[in-house]
Amino acid sequence: MSVLVYLESWEGNFKKNTWESAFYAAKTAEMLGTEAIGLCIGNLNEDPSVAGQYGISKVLHLEDAAFNSFDANNYGAAIAEVAASQGADTIILSGTFNGKALAPALSINADAALLTNVVALPESSSPFSVKRGVYSSKGFNILSSDASKRVVVFVPNSLALEAGEGSAAVESVNAGAGDTKAVEVTEVDRVKGKIPLPEAERVVSGGRGLKGPENWGMIEELAEVLDAGTACSKPVSDMDWRPHSEHVGQTGIAIKPNLYVAVGISGAIQHLAGVSASNTIVVINKDAEAPFFKAADYGIVGDAFEVVPKLTAALKEFKANN
Ligand SMILES: Cc1cc2nc3c(=O)[nH]c(=O)nc-3n(C[C@H](O)[C@H](O)[C@H](O)COP(=O)(O)OP(=O)(O)OC[C@H]3O[C@@H](n4cnc5c(N)ncnc54)[C@H](O)[C@@H]3O)c2cc1C
Repeated sequence: MSVLVYLESWEGNFKKNTWESAFYAAKTAEMLGTEAIGLCIGNLNEDPSVAGQYGISKVLHLEDAAFNSFDANNYGAAIAEVAASQGADTIILSGTFNGKALAPALSINADAALLTNVVALPESSSPFSVKRGVYSSKGFNILSSDASKRVVVFVPNSLALEAGEGSAAVESVNAGAGDTKAVEVTEVDRVKGKIPLPEAERVVSGGRGLKGPENWGMIEELAEVLDAGTACSKPVSDMDWRPHSEHVGQTGIAIKPNLYVAVGISGAIQHLAGVSASNTIVVINKDAEAPFFKAADYGIVGDAFEVVPKLTAALKEFKANN
C-alpha cells in the first residue's frame, strides 16, 4: 500500500500546484501510515527531488519520448501501470485542465474509484472519505468509498502549502510504450503569457460594466501588477470582447483562486456558481445594490474607470516600496 502522486509539469517546468499535490499526497500517506511516491512524466527542465521538501520520499521519472506531449489515455495507462508496480492504492491528481482530462482514463485503467472536486485532506481512511464541493461549490458533501483503490482529484488552491527540508531520491521508471495513443497532437497553439484560470492564484475579472473591449487595458494592467490571470463574465465573451477561454461561471470555467477581483460584474447566480469558492472576493461596482456585494469579502462602490487605475497605481507604489 502506498500513495502515488502525479507531479504534473508544463513544458518541463513545475508550478505551485505540482507541489500542492505533492503535499496533499504526503499528508494523505501520513494519515494512511504509508509513504508518498511522486511520478513525473516527460522531459524536465527542473529537478524533481524538490518534492522531498513536501514530504515525497521518492520520485519516479518516466522519460520515454512517447510521453513528451500530453495524451490522457496514454498517461492514464502509464500512471495506472506505475501505481500497480508500486502497490499504490491511492493516486492523487491536481484538478488542472490536464488532471481533469486524465482522471477518468486513469481510474478505468487502475480499476479505481474516482473521487473528484475534493477540497480538503481526507476525513478518514476507513472508509476513505473526502470533502467535495457540490452544486457549483454552493455546498459540500462527504463522499465515502469502500473501493480498494481510488483516484483523488483535488481542486488547486485548496491547501495551505508548507515546505520543509529534504530531497526525494529520483529514479527512472518505464511504463507503457506510448502505443495506446488514440489522439495524435499535430500542432499546439498555446496562448502565450497567460496564467491558466483553473490554476491561477489570483484572477482579475471584468464584466459588461466595462462598456467595451477597448477598456480591457486597465484589467490587464491590474492583473499584471497582481501577477493574476484575467477572466470575464459570459456576456463579455459572447460579445467577443474577450476570448471564451476567459469565461467563468456555471457554463464557463469554475475557479478557486486565493483572490478574485470582479470589476463591473453584477454577480448573477450563474456567474457566482463558478467563482464563489474563491478564498477572497473583491468586488468593484458602481451600484451599491449589485448582488455581488453579498458574496464579497471586500467591496468598493465606485466607477471602475476611476477605481481600477487608482488601485493599480497604489499597488505599484506598494510593490516598489516593499
Ligand atoms: C443558463 C445560463 C447560464 C449562464 N452562465 C453564465 C456563466 O457561466 N457566467 C456568467 O458570467 N454569466 C452566465 N450567465 C449570464 C448571467 O445570468 C448574467 O447575465 C451575466 O453574468 C451578467 O454579466 P455582467 O455582470 O457582466 O453584466 P451585467 O448584468 O450587465 O452587469 C454589469 C454590472 O456592471 C456594473 N457597472 C456598470 N458600469 C460600471 C462602472 N462604470 N463601474 C463599475 N461598475 C459598473 C453594473 O452596476 C452592473 O452590476 C448565464 C445565464 C444563463 C441563463
